[in-house]
Amino acid sequence: MTVHFPFQNSYAALPANFFARVAPTPVAAPRLIKLNRPLAVQLGLDPDLLDTPEGAEILAGKRLPEGADPIAMAYAGHQFGQFVPQLGDGRAILLGEVIDRDGVRRDIQLKGSGPTPFSRRGDGRAALGPVLREYIVSEAMFALGIPTTRSLAAVITGEHVIRETALPGAVLTRVAASHVRVGTFQFFAARGDTDGVRALADHVINRHYPEVAKSDRPYHALLEGVVARQAELVARWLLVGFIHGVMNTDNTSISGETIDYGPCAFMDDYNPAQVYSSIDEMGRYAYGNQPRIALWNLTRLAECLLPLFSDDQEKAIEQAQFILGDFSEKFSAAYAAGLRRKIGLFGERDGDEALIEGLLDAMAKNQADFTLTFRRLGDAALDASADENVRAQFMDPQAFDEWATRWRERLALEPQTPSERHSAMCVVNPAFIPRNHRVEAVIAAATNDDNYAPFEELLTVLSKPYDDQPQYAAYAEPPLPDQRVLQTFCGT
Ligand code: AMP
Ligand code: MG
Repeated sequence: MTVHFPFQNSYAALPANFFARVAPTPVAAPRLIKLNRPLAVQLGLDPDLLDTPEGAEILAGKRLPEGADPIAMAYAGHQFGQFVPQLGDGRAILLGEVIDRDGVRRDIQLKGSGPTPFSRRGDGRAALGPVLREYIVSEAMFALGIPTTRSLAAVITGEHVIRETALPGAVLTRVAASHVRVGTFQFFAARGDTDGVRALADHVINRHYPEVAKSDRPYHALLEGVVARQAELVARWLLVGFIHGVMNTDNTSISGETIDYGPCAFMDDYNPAQVYSSIDEMGRYAYGNQPRIALWNLTRLAECLLPLFSDDQEKAIEQAQFILGDFSEKFSAAYAAGLRRKIGLFGERDGDEALIEGLLDAMAKNQADFTLTFRRLGDAALDASADENVRAQFMDPQAFDEWATRWRERLALEPQTPSERHSAMCVVNPAFIPRNHRVEAVIAAATNDDNYAPFEELLTVLSKPYDDQPQYAAYAEPPLPDQRVLQTFCGT
């Protein structure tokens, strides 16, 4: 029996300049190294049939499933602030779309499946390391409850890709609500193709923002919707210490999912200026800059939509500015509410912001581990004898003591019990994040020793980030000084 993909493709029915029809390039000896069985079921796919040599061939791009209409999507984008009028899927191919069990249309895309007309100087391939990193981090984000593309499978191709050295080649099967990016709009806008912008806007309204179709001004409402989702998304990133690393406009999804995991990282010590990406020399995409950059990217989207807003350009600009003006308020509200929950507050009072600022300040000055400080704070909310474990995160533990006094005075103003507070804090402060040193160790074991046991174990731990999982306590620990990862790479 052969695996059936219930494709219902819609993007491939858009005008011909939206994409290039191109099939994946067959590879030598595909081997399935990971299949996300629950996700397969969610997509209406049979995991047992995918977990066969034939399934591996499909997931490596060696064999096309029936009903696939493989395309590489066209897009443009600002990369580190510089506009590039043509990027596009240079190493990814959309096989098609399926409607999942919840009725949501999902793209099924192969990443690393060979060259396309958009490959420019690239080989269209992916190395095993970045494929495993994207698999781990995207699935960790999902388990944390943050909107993200998903990973359905990883295969090794049996071929090598040449980077700085020869590395095992791999293909990731990525699942997304769609792969439409801010850069997709820019592709048409840069060509003066207003019909293209409109057709794309109609497609994404229908697909991601159906509620705005009925609005008097659907394109304005579309921008409002994207602004709202990006504001919420970036707040969620900050609240778990996530640094995307390459927030170019082509890596900003219109659906509001986290997309394109490259040199991304979760920070260990809290530092608003933290950068890991080797290519981000100016710190443009530093942890604390992410809200500002999201607004910058949304402003580029708004520019593309101006011709749909009004024939009167000045009016259109004014309307766009009005909508973009909501970003900061939406972001700040989501971020502040999230931080209040992280320190165990149920209500909102004057002085809360200063209290939270006080903690973050002390954390930054004392190189406190972001994740563990909040997680252990939950234990301290239950029982002050657990304060020692929070104090231990601070270079100068007294910095915590002073803050803790103010914190307890504030907690005393709320009626909830310590146990209610502890439970509420446990579901917002993860114990487990994909720590960089763990991700690197997984990649090294797989690349150097063909050993996937560490990968499997890390995925298991990260699938329940809010549970204590005492048997995996070591995974909650920050790196030892000699394990610290100082830089991450795209590896493309
Ligand atoms: P990314 O770094 O994944 O956001 O990619 C930026 C752009 O470079 C996109 O247009 C990619 O398709 C393209 N690209 C990245 N790596 C490769 C590669 N190995 N071969 C071809 N195109 C690539
Ligand atoms: Mg990209």
